[in-house]
Amino acid sequence: MSPLVEHHYIEKLYKYHCLKCKYLEWTPADIVDEFADLDIYCDEEYDEKQNKNRKGMPVMVCPNCNEDFYYLGEKKEEKHSYLEEDDECIPF
Ligand SMILES: [Zn+2]
Repeated sequence: MSPLVEHHYIEKLYKYHCLKCKYLEWTPADIVDEFADLDIYCDEEYDEKQNKNRKGMPVMVCPNCNEDFYYLGEKKEEKHSYLEEDDECIPF
């Protein structure tokens, strides 16, 4: 059997909230960054209300009610680890 190797990675999360249904979610930075990229490519313009609420972060869509989903101004990092079989040495 192959030996198990422990891998570590850090996940960055941003706290997002919905002003309408009060839904809260820690959103992985990868997803937020994708939205930020889309904003640049689409040259999307936010309206005045969105710009007031978004704190310089991309506005996403609430998974609960499809309204605007705003950054709440909090972020955190979570450490994760997972075990994976080290099978690089198996000859075929
Ligand atoms: Zn909502």
